[in-house]
Amino acid sequence: PKEKINILLLENISERAANTFTNNGYAHVTRLSGALSEEELIKQIKDVHLLGIRSKTKVSKAVLEAAPKLQAIGCFCIGVNQVDLKSATNHGVTVFNAPYSNTRSVAELVMAASIFLIRRIPDKNKAAHDGIWLKESKGSYELRGKTLGIIGYGNIGSQVSVLAEALGMKVVFYDVLTKLPLGNARRAHTLEELMGVSDIITLHVPETPRTKMMITAGVIAHAKKGAILINYARGEVVDLDALATAMKEGRISGAAVDVYPWEPEKNGDRFETPLQGLSNVILTPHIGGSTEEAQANIGEDVSDKLFHYLENGVTIGSHTVPELNLPPQEGTHRILHIHRNVPGVLSEINSALSTHQVNILAQYLKTNEEIGYVVLDVDQQISAKAAELLREVKNTIKVRMLY
Ligand code: NAD
Repeated sequence: PKEKINILLLENISERAANTFTNNGYAHVTRLSGALSEEELIKQIKDVHLLGIRSKTKVSKAVLEAAPKLQAIGCFCIGVNQVDLKSATNHGVTVFNAPYSNTRSVAELVMAASIFLIRRIPDKNKAAHDGIWLKESKGSYELRGKTLGIIGYGNIGSQVSVLAEALGMKVVFYDVLTKLPLGNARRAHTLEELMGVSDIITLHVPETPRTKMMITAGVIAHAKKGAILINYARGEVVDLDALATAMKEGRISGAAVDVYPWEPEKNGDRFETPLQGLSNVILTPHIGGSTEEAQANIGEDVSDKLFHYLENGVTIGSHTVPELNLPPQEGTHRILHIHRNVPGVLSEINSALSTHQVNILAQYLKTNEEIGYVVLDVDQQISAKAAELLREVKNTIKVRMLY
């Protein structure tokens, strides 16, 4: 029952996100402005069913062990590495985040950086700030008609593709997967082919062993003379020393970098990169996705995911409990069962129910290496006895009677 659900939202999660629950009958929503330390969180989490955090709250194994009622954690941010995912999996706690809420923000900034770099604005801006008049057209170009090479044609890369074509650019992309080219974009079959035809190269790959140091001096050597390089993906993808050298040699004429192999923890901290002080370089502090709109999208996305999990057991987008979505049906009652992934659990569940003459009308099961998740729709509200039997099924982690 909704009245019994305790929701704890930390780190100033928006009121709008909280309203998703309060407007739908969940009365016990507590909002705190800051993060909690591990110790404080352990004290507060005992009766919490649903926890909302951003990136500063660490949810460790010890926290999860102190949270017997916890059903789900919503990370109101892009990443989930502040949560011990293995431990959350073993406790049957679903973990959601909002991985794609800032796609558009990044794509827009890539276009802005493209225009500023191809017009050599950073140098003119710097001169103007220094009180120097630097009016010239030499070496400044329009984007129209130029070729943009997109490395990684996923959510962000494909958005950039659309915006770039709207500005009259030709688009070439390189991806390890076969991707549907949007608009008139054309696929390059190798990284070198892409490097060789692009006036501006922009990176939108994830951080993987294969993308680590993907852009080396050897790869840069394939670029057109005077090409521009943009990295708004991940810091490890580009060899910044190689890039700095290529810029000093004039092989690369401009660069925009938002992510670094090492990034400071907090505002005001110092950081160093070999690109500092070079001409026609835009350096930003990992703000590619940082906009008010992205924040609003994150709030909406994560609170929707948590809400649909509470109401219907939907786990699409989960990083721990396997992903399932059994459409609700009129006149049925729903049970969620999370268990260790060992053979025989499902048949034990089914026999526990049939012992009590409960008919199963629909059933979805999905497993990962550690756990199994089954959603059951049955024909009657099951008795306390039958519920007890389900809890006693060997290897059970969590059982919830939804409605
Ligand atoms: P995505 O998963 O939707 O797309 C990534 C694409 O890269 C996929 O199409 C994938 O097939 C492709 N890919 C993977 N390995 C590859 C390889 N070795 N060579 C070529 N292509 C490869 O991810 P996304 O949401 O578009 O995000 C892209 C990157 O942007 C991520 O690294 C993400 O962390 C980063 N990002 C940065 C910011 C920021 O603030 N600067 C904000 C959001 C995302």
